[in-house]
Amino acid sequence: MIAFVVRHMACDACGEAYAEDNVCVVLHTDEQLVLEACCEACHAQQVITAYDRPPYEQLHREEPVVPVIVTQDDVEGWSAFLAGFTGDVYDLLAQS
Ligand SMILES: [Zn+2]
Repeated sequence: MIAFVVRHMACDACGEAYAEDNVCVVLHTDEQLVLEACCEACHAQQVITAYDRPPYEQLHREEPVVPVIVTQDDVEGWSAFLAGFTGDVYDLLAQS
């Protein structure tokens, strides 16, 4: 990973390439690797976080939501409800 940073990344501040001696690992877990790079030219520090997998793959997967089919009864029911409804949309959400 350090080699990757040295080869492919440059200082955010001045664009100088990093040397291997200027990049060190500050945290290494199963899923995450955090590197710190210090620019030799301008001494700006940059923290680089790398993941084993893209972070979105680690998100909790929800069961897909299956949309409920709206029937004619639903429409008529809502129509009757709304005909007698006097509040605003907040009141509506509070009641549903
Ligand atoms: Zn720099």
